[in-house]
Amino acid sequence: AGSIVWFRDDLRLADNPALTAAVRTGAPLVCLFVLDDASPGHRRPGAAARWWLHQSLDALADGLEQRGSSLVLRRGPAALVVPQLAREIGAGAVFWNRRYGAAERATDTAIKADLQRSGVEAVSFNGNLLHEPWDIATRDGGAFKVFTPFWRAVLARGEPRRPASAADALARLPAVASDRLYDWALKPVRPDWSGTIAGSWTPGEAGALGALSQFLDDGGPDYADHRDQPDKRATSRLSPHLRFGEISPAQVWHAIRHAEAVGTISGRAAEKFLSELGWREFCYHLLYAAEDLRAVNVQRRFDAFPWRHDEVGLRAWTSGKTGYPLVDAGMRELLRTGWMHNRVRMVAASFLVKHLLIDWRTGEDWFWDTLVDADPASNPASWQWVAGSGADAAPYFRIFNPIAQGERFDPEGAYVRRFVPELARLPDAWIHRPWQAPADVLAEAGVVLGSSYPAPVVDHAAARLRALAALASLDAMA
Ligand code: FAD
Repeated sequence: AGSIVWFRDDLRLADNPALTAAVRTGAPLVCLFVLDDASPGHRRPGAAARWWLHQSLDALADGLEQRGSSLVLRRGPAALVVPQLAREIGAGAVFWNRRYGAAERATDTAIKADLQRSGVEAVSFNGNLLHEPWDIATRDGGAFKVFTPFWRAVLARGEPRRPASAADALARLPAVASDRLYDWALKPVRPDWSGTIAGSWTPGEAGALGALSQFLDDGGPDYADHRDQPDKRATSRLSPHLRFGEISPAQVWHAIRHAEAVGTISGRAAEKFLSELGWREFCYHLLYAAEDLRAVNVQRRFDAFPWRHDEVGLRAWTSGKTGYPLVDAGMRELLRTGWMHNRVRMVAASFLVKHLLIDWRTGEDWFWDTLVDADPASNPASWQWVAGSGADAAPYFRIFNPIAQGERFDPEGAYVRRFVPELARLPDAWIHRPWQAPADVLAEAGVVLGSSYPAPVVDHAAARLRALAALASLDAMA
């Protein structure tokens, strides 16, 4: 009998434990991907992620074909599709790498039981995390709520497993029907991203390894000093590759350790970078422990928070027209490239939640639809962190000042100039506060506030006081 390898968030051939184990059985394989927009509770990938998924599946199919295999595409609720295919080919076993959201776990458990009833073995692995969430526990066996002790516990477990290389050849079961990728229409016609988003990325396993080696050559050495600066290219941009499992965190971890050992990057840069991978792990730890991370405040007292409905403010934010240059540059980087620098994500998210008092779930939804790295753990966990409703959250009363953040992390305004070209000719001194610039400076730079570039949608000082008052109302209820 053949075996099925069910690819999900692990679209790679190297260091893929489910694939490795299936190859080891010697049985011919069916390599399967299921487009599941139908299972209850499963979150449909957003537009930018679907664009990425199309490219990544294309790359995976190529890699499989080079090894004598192919990618079988099926569509529908996985709980039906997977057992059905297993019966269709008389499979002896199905192999997969685990997922961690509640709905996905419930689906996988149900599929496992169904397969086992038909005498088909279901074998699952950890392919996408350094450690399983349940293996990292507090002294009394619970989940961590705070990052630092979590990370200490991770480091105490020692180095993660050594990554495995890809098999050279795969035995395949012939004649298994497959959908055609183009028929899934994952790539949107509008907006047409072929020029903008596509120009920024190479989805797929080879692209992931390329991004890693480019980072080790260029950004890595300065990572510890420059990672917070959006005007520099100092971070890895591995996030969409990690999101779709085109590279495993174990591969990244050991590549960083190797670069550190041979002296390409400093110990300080390596520690900092690995701890960011640690934040990814922590988000999965929270996702695993949470009731519903994208919908429910981890701190339930935020359920009573007086969020505002503000269509005008929301539209200004999504379109990058708030009048705050750093926020607008970030929101436009997001629309143009499907990605935003981490520092700017924090400032832009904080602006929505605190300056505009719009519910973090609205922002999380927008990011979900527009980020190529939109991640079921990192996105809601980060939004809850920014909103103050998360486990280990930034305190609500600490309100980012978008002007000061811009002046500190984009001191010459190079980032703003790149994404907000209508401000490009403003001198550095005014680039993050155009509404305070003298009239002759604005005129010379060709900026007409309220026309060529918006005036601020809210006044920073007033918005700050309003946010603090909203929080005080919450505290008064406690
Ligand atoms: P690097 O600095 O090179 O870091 C390496 C890897 O570590 C990243 O690829 C990522 O996998 C992980 N990582 C780094 N920082 C974080 C972090 N703060 N939290 C979790 N993982 C981290 N990241 C996503 O992958 N998907 C999301 O949907 C997402 N949504 C976010 C929403 C908000 C409001 C905020 C503030 C942050 C969000 N992040 C998300 C985290 C972070 O911004 C991105 O992971 C990071 O910017 C990716 O760029 P990079 O690969 O160059 O990061």
